[in-house]
Amino acid sequence: MKSEKLRITSQRDVILDELRSVKTHPTADELYEQVRRRLPRVSLATVYRNLEWLSEQGLAQKIEVGGRQKRFDGDISEHYHVRCSKCGRVADVEMDMLDGIEERIAQCCGFTVTGHRIEFTGLCPACSNGSAC
Ligand SMILES: [Zn+2]
Ligand SMILES: [Zn+2]
Repeated sequence: MKSEKLRITSQRDVILDELRSVKTHPTADELYEQVRRRLPRVSLATVYRNLEWLSEQGLAQKIEVGGRQKRFDGDISEHYHVRCSKCGRVADVEMDMLDGIEERIAQCCGFTVTGHRIEFTGLCPACSNGSAC
């Protein structure tokens, strides 16, 4: 049942493959530029639609970080992100998920908590050195 739902067409395969190959958390536009090298006839709408689909299926993560555009992550493990407030670049934070935080929220707010996201903000190395990035 599950395998049928998760069957991936070759176009989707390429899109997911490209997304997984980078650590930059690209926007749909950025990934489109990348995918076009392998699929010259692909449209931005197709890339966008597939990214949405992949996120819905849990094969990719849609990152709702601050900033103007949605970003996507091929790494679906739970992890935190840090965003550069100057250039908008998003990087993974190499640390364990905070323990017990969801229980605390459940206790204080009465919610059934199913997950959490933390976005750190700051300046990336390039921006804090003052060089363009
Ligand atoms: Zn930056
Ligand atoms: Zn990430």
